[in-house]
Amino acid sequence: MKPKAPPLPSPSAISPALLCWYDKNARVLAWRAQPGCSSDPYKVWLSEIMLQQTTVATVKSYFEAFIGRWGDVHALARAELDDVLAAWAGLGYYARARNLHACARIISEQHDGIFPKTAAELMDLPGIGPYTAAAIAAIAHDEPVAAVDGNVERVVSRLYAITTPLPHSKPEIKQRAKGLVPERRAGDFAQALMDLGALVCIPRAPLCDTCPLLFACQARRDGLERGLPAKGPKASKPTRFGRAFVVQRADGAILLRKRPPRGLLGGMLEVPMSPWSRDDKGKRNAANTVKHTFTHFHLVLSVEKSDDYSAAEVRDTSANLWVAQDALADQALPTVIKKVLVKALGADVFNA
Ligand code: SF4
Repeated sequence: MKPKAPPLPSPSAISPALLCWYDKNARVLAWRAQPGCSSDPYKVWLSEIMLQQTTVATVKSYFEAFIGRWGDVHALARAELDDVLAAWAGLGYYARARNLHACARIISEQHDGIFPKTAAELMDLPGIGPYTAAAIAAIAHDEPVAAVDGNVERVVSRLYAITTPLPHSKPEIKQRAKGLVPERRAGDFAQALMDLGALVCIPRAPLCDTCPLLFACQARRDGLERGLPAKGPKASKPTRFGRAFVVQRADGAILLRKRPPRGLLGGMLEVPMSPWSRDDKGKRNAANTVKHTFTHFHLVLSVEKSDDYSAAEVRDTSANLWVAQDALADQALPTVIKKVLVKALGADVFNA
């Protein structure tokens, strides 16, 4: 008969071990205070909004650019939305930038520039959901709440060998995570869990031999760590098809138009396009095709270059504007449109 595994340590043993590890191994990030020091809520908020759906490596340069240009929440509140969208271009999920700007105005005008201190209050603000509220409240104000992102889901699933597939396991993970948060240094603890997930308890092959929580990890004890967190079957993404028209005037200026303020890529600039359809009607030439993947679908665009401003597809909007080629890099252009312009005009189009 297999001998019974020894009982695992109580949750109260986990936070001291993790904080001790964090004090020596915390990642140095521009928005972060040193372990044990207080954080700037503006920087925490800005970084957490940028980090939604985006990696730390990508966020770094955007964060520095934003802080260099808008050093506090009042400065960001005074900015024009178009300037914020242009500075956000390439980060994706543009509703975040619109909400960021709206939130900055509320904090500046209604809260004297001071961010609310609790997760519950933060959730009343635009663009701040349960995870972001908990992360800001914990990191900026040491509120003892659990901030559960993908990294933390992975660590907690493994610590407790939670084999229920995501997303069904989320309530249990959240409850377990709550039980780990210490009364003191809640902000450092939140960041320590994030760092452990990013540096040690990594997706495919966790580095258990260097893990400060090895002594408490049920998945490792049971040999399950590589298979957790368990995931349900992935829904396949549909594909949509369309035509994109790159129209260039004799002086080199490019025709752009502004998307409606709400919805996908809201408020961003684009080239004129046909509607995106589920039917693949067009005859496509692979050399003139751009592919892009959004959260819920793939997009395949045929890129057509023209100097014919009168074409029906091109003159259908009052929101058209001509932009000089050397000013394209400063515009609020989403990545998919940058791909279209590069396809039509060459890789140097943004270095003109
Ligand atoms: Fe993750 Fe391994 Fe640490 Fe468990 S022991 S928390 S699986 S790195």
